[in-house]
Amino acid sequence: MNDHLRDLYQEVIIDHNRSPRNYHPLEKANHKAEGFNPLCGDKLTLYLTIEDNKITDASFEGEGCAISTASASLMTENIKNKTIEEADKIFKDFHLMLTKEDAPITERLGKLSVLSGVKEFPTRVKCATLAWHTLEAALHDSANIVSTE
Ligand code: ZN
Repeated sequence: MNDHLRDLYQEVIIDHNRSPRNYHPLEKANHKAEGFNPLCGDKLTLYLTIEDNKITDASFEGEGCAISTASASLMTENIKNKTIEEADKIFKDFHLMLTKEDAPITERLGKLSVLSGVKEFPTRVKCATLAWHTLEAALHDSANIVSTE
């Protein structure tokens, strides 16, 4: 990665950590899950509104390091208006980007590519993937479904 790109990526991460997007509870959420990364102490609660297999809204709250907060912020932006299947595919690509040497940065990752540098710091990969593991729990684990009835 060249220095210019690294600086640009760093700026986006700092910006999303300082002013996280979609950082609030979601009253109309019908899916919710909590995530915890004991290695770093990152905690987050993820809220989703899913209608007809589509994520129509997403938000989060929590406390964590810059990487975990920026990752959750970028994730909630990215998954809005995606189907559950699309969100699963994005997670797969994101996970590969952070764990596999020479993994492609696919188009569906969009702005999430700014986190590709985390790969160089294996202990931080869990910070970057926490929001995504929480998303998987919110999407697929029925125990986490919150009834809005
Ligand atoms: Zn962390």
